[in-house]
Amino acid sequence: MEVETIDCDVCGAKISDFENDLFHHSGKLNGKQSAHIHLCSKCESDLRPPFFDFDAALEKKRSRELVTLILKTAGAYDEWLMSNRRGSSFSTFVNEFGFDGENSSAIFAKVEETRKDLLSRCIG
Ligand SMILES: [Zn+2]
Ligand SMILES: [Zn+2]
Repeated sequence: MEVETIDCDVCGAKISDFENDLFHHSGKLNGKQSAHIHLCSKCESDLRPPFFDFDAALEKKRSRELVTLILKTAGAYDEWLMSNRRGSSFSTFVNEFGFDGENSSAIFAKVEETRKDLLSRCIG
């Protein structure tokens, strides 16, 4: 028997439980106004509608995730530099510390900003 599914419009998940895992909204998504947006229960609880601008909510969620990544990476990298007695450079960050995420040069810049800001405030 073929199970009918609907795709979540945000994450693409296949939704088959229409009673518990399907949420209907209207609003702005991917730059377009839509009268009918489907969300899976995970996106529903991540994004917490009701509101009408899904793009803004997704942007906010991505920015929040980026902040977490920068803070975690800055902490781990600073600890690594201390215990390996190394000075910081982009090539050290990527090749020796081993950061292998996306946008490594932009992340490195933010990590350095964060570390230097804290170091100058706490140690001077
Ligand atoms: Zn989803
Ligand atoms: Zn619907």
